[in-house]
Amino acid sequence: MKYLLVIVVLVVAWMMVAKGRGNAAPPPPPRRRRAGDGAAREQMLACAHCGVHLPQSEAVADAAGRPFCSEAHRLAGPRGPAGGAGRPPRPSTPPRTAPLGYR
Ligand SMILES: [Zn+2]
Repeated sequence: MKYLLVIVVLVVAWMMVAKGRGNAAPPPPPRRRRAGDGAAREQMLACAHCGVHLPQSEAVADAAGRPFCSEAHRLAGPRGPAGGAGRPPRPSTPPRTAPLGYR
């Protein structure tokens, strides 16, 4: 019984050595997001006018530093939540009324 333990230890040691030889190549690097490595880390900004998201490098900033998606939107200015100097408010849609024959 005493030799059994010695044999097991030897077998395990031999397996480790064999594994080390077979795996001579360096282990693969840990997985990372590789696609668009630089672009993926770039900060995304929302256009102050239309709200579209775009990379910081493509954004157009006004004097106040607000990002815009294009020169046209920069000139149009930021669209405030309470109807600022942006585009006029959307015309109200007529009330929905089902035709009489529908009911
Ligand atoms: Zn925009």
